[in-house]
Amino acid sequence: MMRIDFVSLFPSMFLGPFDDSILRRARDNGILDIHILNPRDFAFDRHKHVDDSPFGGGSGMVLKPEPIFRAMHFLLGTTHFERRRVLLMSPDGEVFTQNKAKELSAYDQLIFLCGHYEGFDARITELADEVLSIGDYVLTGGELPAMVMVDAVARMLPGVLGSEESAPTDSFYHGLLEYPQYTRPRDYHGKVVPEVLFSGDHAKIASWRRQESLRLTFERRPDLLEKAELSQEDRDFLIKLEQARKDDQ
Ligand code: SAM
Repeated sequence: MMRIDFVSLFPSMFLGPFDDSILRRARDNGILDIHILNPRDFAFDRHKHVDDSPFGGGSGMVLKPEPIFRAMHFLLGTTHFERRRVLLMSPDGEVFTQNKAKELSAYDQLIFLCGHYEGFDARITELADEVLSIGDYVLTGGELPAMVMVDAVARMLPGVLGSEESAPTDSFYHGLLEYPQYTRPRDYHGKVVPEVLFSGDHAKIASWRRQESLRLTFERRPDLLEKAELSQEDRDFLIKLEQARKDDQ
């Protein structure tokens, strides 16, 4: 069982994503255990202030240290897991990837600190083992990034995906985008499924899929090819794609 704690000022944002489909099943099967803690409950002033204006001036409100330090103190004191990781959501963090999802799936507890408004007082960063971002854009809060990460991590946990949903061929698992998939009908208004998929020749299908995977990655995400594990056959195919592109120009 993996325990997930979201530290968030907006607990109701977490209603929905974990209540359906694969993640719901993971919770029902005791694989994922989800909790939410609101730092507002740890604010000590009468008005339960959790934010304040930035020192030095500027617009917006910054999340105050006290409620979040106190919430974390409570959480770390009342939950006991050998392998746990505190993750702070911020656009200035390391960009989350499939490899990171795999790495995080080895922990027993993940704690997500979700910011809002103008973000966290910088001193809150020391509570985190890692600062993570979901991409180079700014969202209104850390709730969606945290849920995106939990979804990706959950798919890596044993027993979450059924055999019919198995993950190893998905995009990024082996550093490439996934090959195109088709299902019935074989001919949809003249748009036909590639013939090779009906050949019954497994080696031929595997080789076609590998090449299509390379082709898609070459066209859409050539940056991934630099780090992907490639055989000599893959490299020869990529040289052909490169040559074809030059010939077209
Ligand atoms: N002032 C901050 C900056 O410029 O880096 C942005 C704050 S943002 C409006 C509010 C909160 O949303 C952040 O504290 C963070 O928790 C979350 N957030 C926004 N974009 C994010 C992203 N790309 N990845 C992870 N968290 C993000």
